[in-house]
Amino acid sequence: MRPEALNPLFAEVQTLDGVGPKLMKPLEKLGLTRIKDLAYHLPERFVSRTAIADLDSGSEGEQVIIALTAVEHRAPRAGSRGPYRVLAQDDIGNICALTWFGKAAYAAKKLVPVGEKRWIAGRLDRYGDMLQIVHPDHIEAESAANMGRQSEPVYRLSDGLTQPRIGDFTRQALARLPELPEWIEPGQLARADWPAWRDALQLGHETTDTKAHDRLAYDELLANSLALLLVKAEGRRRKGQALAGDGGLRAKLHLPFALTGAQARSITEIAGDLAQEAPMLRLLQGDVGAGKTVVALNAMLIAVEAGKQAALLAPTEILARQHFETLRTMLAPTGVNIALLTGRAKGREREGLLMGLMDGSIQMLVGTHAIFQDTVNYRDLGLVVVDEQHRFGVAQRLALAAKGRRAPHTLAMTATPIPRSLTLAQYGEMDVSRLDELPPGRQAIDTRVVPQERMEEVVAGVERHLASGQQAYWVCPMVREIDGAPDLADIAAAEARFAALKERFGDAVALVHGQLRPEIKDAAMERFASGQARLLVATTVIEVGVDVPSATLMVIEQAERFGLAQLHQLRGRVGRGAEKSTCLLLRGGALSETGRARLALMRETQDGFRIAEEDLALRGGGELLGTRQSGEAAFRIANLEQMQKLLPIAHGDARLLMERDGGLTSPRGEAARLLLYLFERDWGVQLLRGG
Ligand code: ADP
Ligand code: MG
Repeated sequence: MRPEALNPLFAEVQTLDGVGPKLMKPLEKLGLTRIKDLAYHLPERFVSRTAIADLDSGSEGEQVIIALTAVEHRAPRAGSRGPYRVLAQDDIGNICALTWFGKAAYAAKKLVPVGEKRWIAGRLDRYGDMLQIVHPDHIEAESAANMGRQSEPVYRLSDGLTQPRIGDFTRQALARLPELPEWIEPGQLARADWPAWRDALQLGHETTDTKAHDRLAYDELLANSLALLLVKAEGRRRKGQALAGDGGLRAKLHLPFALTGAQARSITEIAGDLAQEAPMLRLLQGDVGAGKTVVALNAMLIAVEAGKQAALLAPTEILARQHFETLRTMLAPTGVNIALLTGRAKGREREGLLMGLMDGSIQMLVGTHAIFQDTVNYRDLGLVVVDEQHRFGVAQRLALAAKGRRAPHTLAMTATPIPRSLTLAQYGEMDVSRLDELPPGRQAIDTRVVPQERMEEVVAGVERHLASGQQAYWVCPMVREIDGAPDLADIAAAEARFAALKERFGDAVALVHGQLRPEIKDAAMERFASGQARLLVATTVIEVGVDVPSATLMVIEQAERFGLAQLHQLRGRVGRGAEKSTCLLLRGGALSETGRARLALMRETQDGFRIAEEDLALRGGGELLGTRQSGEAAFRIANLEQMQKLLPIAHGDARLLMERDGGLTSPRGEAARLLLYLFERDWGVQLLRGG
């Protein structure tokens, strides 16, 4: 149970003045449901405004406060999506426009009645040959004192919220912050000269004070490291079982290739871990195509040789099926019984699978998260392999680890190359094996950046490619959020592209995206994998794992909208066979300098670790760090710079605290528990109770 001291912080935001049901939606959209969320919703930036007497003394791009009188309202035509405009004039008769888009327009009507003077704060922009202010930050009937503030916070908003509103809510939230005991080690606190927690939050909303921000970032990193170390400690405490295979089954494998040095080394490291009673917690990091599957297979065979079961967890249905097929083929000479369990197994089929798992006749299982539902029981699960680890959160990992009668060993695999500086933040609780060597004979993928306007040429190129008997992917971008209609735009894009390409290539084109029914998606994948379909139009659902060696061309539309790590993984779908492969990155018109540099980097190198490091340097690590896909809280406060500066310190401090007080029972340990709750890493605390 959550400590009582935190109750005021976990009170719902509805308990604040002015938060009614209508505002809950926009607040929820920002993840602001509790008082503490608002307290940690730090301003994105601060603006200084200049009060100007008339528009002549203001210039484009400037943040101003100005008195204006509305002269005319121009509502958009019924049914049109145009903006709501108000023409307003200053004291000497210059006209400017006040402009609102979307839902905000409803409010605009009342805010600036015709003929009445209002003080308006916002950024001057150009609109034709007029100046305009889009979505003014403040509108006051009297020149309010706070409008002239030197430095004013600007918060991230969502549709339906305004700066004054959210400013008011955060002020109310801050007023409710309790005093909490200090969790930072006194020496560190003194050295860094940081403010206390409550002061730091207060300051964080008022100024750009580095010390306050650093302290809050450190807190977050400390919470993260502590939680990961608690997982590690718990793993050590739980009794596992030593698995020593006799090599009998492994000897029967007839692989069509020799293992690379890195694969052999990783297998040795894993075998060493499995032979220990303490459960393994190891991450296998290896670029796309580095050959992680065969490493996993060896680990799973060791478990089966030792008389145990092994399970492989894949993030998607498609991947689970593909793994199942690959493994079943490789396992044929060994006689090992392998099964596939996904959410789609129903009725008698499912019952049969559950029986087989319970009586041990199924020795290996491949599946989606369905394999760790409560109703699935294993006779003796010795090893769990988690493929594409980054798709799963720690909490899911833990649920799986709790499955065996005795703690199973865990091998996590990821193809997301993580810069070294960040590995600790993401995987601080695990030992790491790196597959830093690709199997021999891989050809470089010829990567080119092509302007989107040359679409016709690109399509003609695809036509030639298909005519030569090879296959191709066509990837459309995934847009996370478009005004409350997430993912619709990208489907529209993929579907529209599919329709256009179908006109040209007929039934040779197949389509997959995440919102298709699984049977339909699989059928399309199947048609492509078997060569019936020659061109696959897809969203990022093909990102991980899919393996079709004769697909040697990939076109990626609006490549600038993808993260580099994602582009790298997508590109890894080609270049899997003997033929030379090509990747065309289509780019939109206006690219920022960073955007250009990022695409250039893709052209230049195929080394995932290097791409990760340089992408980090180019634009920060949000994309790499988030576990958005698993919906778990990632880092909300700490930015990249702070991460690099403070993570080693926070991790070291967490380790020291764990060494001195692993049960978190000392006063500082108790305080640290509060911190784990604050940053929603209380799964760390749950472990303490269980242990
Ligand atoms: P990933 O690390 O992306 O999961 P896979 O395990 O799917 O990579 O392997 C990619 C391809 O490389 C597969 O077709 C696999 O059979 C092949 N492969 C794996 N190891 C070797 C090796 N040592 N030599 C040659 N080919 C290999
Ligand atoms: Mg793989």
